[in-house]
Amino acid sequence: MKFADVVGQSIVKQRLLHGVSIGRVPHAQLFLGAEGSGALSLALAYAQLLLCENRQSDDSCGVCGNCKKSQQWSHPDVHFSFPFPGKKGERETASDVYTQWREILTKSSYVSYASWMKSLDAENKQGNIPILECRAIIRNLSLKAFSGGYKVLLMWLPEYLGKEGNVLLKLIEEPPEKTIFLLVAEDVDSVLNTIVSRTQLVRIPPVEEEDMVEALINKEGLEAETARKLSVVSAGSYWTALELIHESENPFLEPWKTLLAFTFTGRMEKSIAWADEMSTFGREGLKSFFLYGLQLLRYSLLQPYGVGASAWNAQEADLVKRLSGLNLGTDKIQGMVNAIENCMYEIERNGNLKMILVDVSYQVSKWIKKS
Ligand SMILES: [Zn+2]
Repeated sequence: MKFADVVGQSIVKQRLLHGVSIGRVPHAQLFLGAEGSGALSLALAYAQLLLCENRQSDDSCGVCGNCKKSQQWSHPDVHFSFPFPGKKGERETASDVYTQWREILTKSSYVSYASWMKSLDAENKQGNIPILECRAIIRNLSLKAFSGGYKVLLMWLPEYLGKEGNVLLKLIEEPPEKTIFLLVAEDVDSVLNTIVSRTQLVRIPPVEEEDMVEALINKEGLEAETARKLSVVSAGSYWTALELIHESENPFLEPWKTLLAFTFTGRMEKSIAWADEMSTFGREGLKSFFLYGLQLLRYSLLQPYGVGASAWNAQEADLVKRLSGLNLGTDKIQGMVNAIENCMYEIERNGNLKMILVDVSYQVSKWIKKS
């Protein structure tokens, strides 16, 4: 990835770029920043810059052969190391989970330890950088650089390196020529002192609010106001902001849009297909679905007064606004609310789900058409 893909952090970027431009590249650096600050992203962009065949003054070129390989996380001179849950004979070195590592980075370079472990189906297991992995590092770095330039070892979360990590000390202190260690840590107190003392510290501050807002608008397509709210709650962690966007994607929103679309346009032949699909939510799921819809309807009445605006994400707010714009009035909304409450009662009484669902769609449509 390029520096341009890293959210904010212009001061750190400038320092790193300046160092490379004057040929000052410390052989062991510790990128230290809280989760979501972008420390890993910066280290990835820095590694790409070091290997780029056509460095620009402000970034790697992004198009040369080396950049292309770096961007696919497959440059033979960039070795990755990270914690993973060990399994004898299957997961002994980082390269055994390299496919998953590439997958998670391809989604986003803003990764948390928890999300990484989750992607390995190992939420409840302990990650580790074991001795076999340390030996693999020593072996890999003893090989000649494939492209004839720098060779980089990027170790994410050296906190998970146990005492075995001390076998790396000699290598970190006196690495082969043009070999660069980039360690990316969140908690310096948990990293072996012997390692910290051999590295140059690069402190990565939390992402600035303005930078976060800009990225959420331009990269994630959020509206300015939502972006601002998210950047406040995520307190400098872009990873948290991304998680919050994801969480706010309510699975019930689309089915509600569908229901309202066909009931408003009177295309009731669609109600059976909708009921078929909705019945897969099950009784509990459907109760939540209807409770959510009741909220949408109630807020559509309050929307003109600006009540509850903060509770919705951009798409939900859009639907509430559109509902409100139809000026259905209190009576019709109340009629729809009653129909939905009846339907929830039927669901609780173990009625046939598909029949209940088709019925409620007709009830909603009846209230919409009522003059
Ligand atoms: Zn390049």
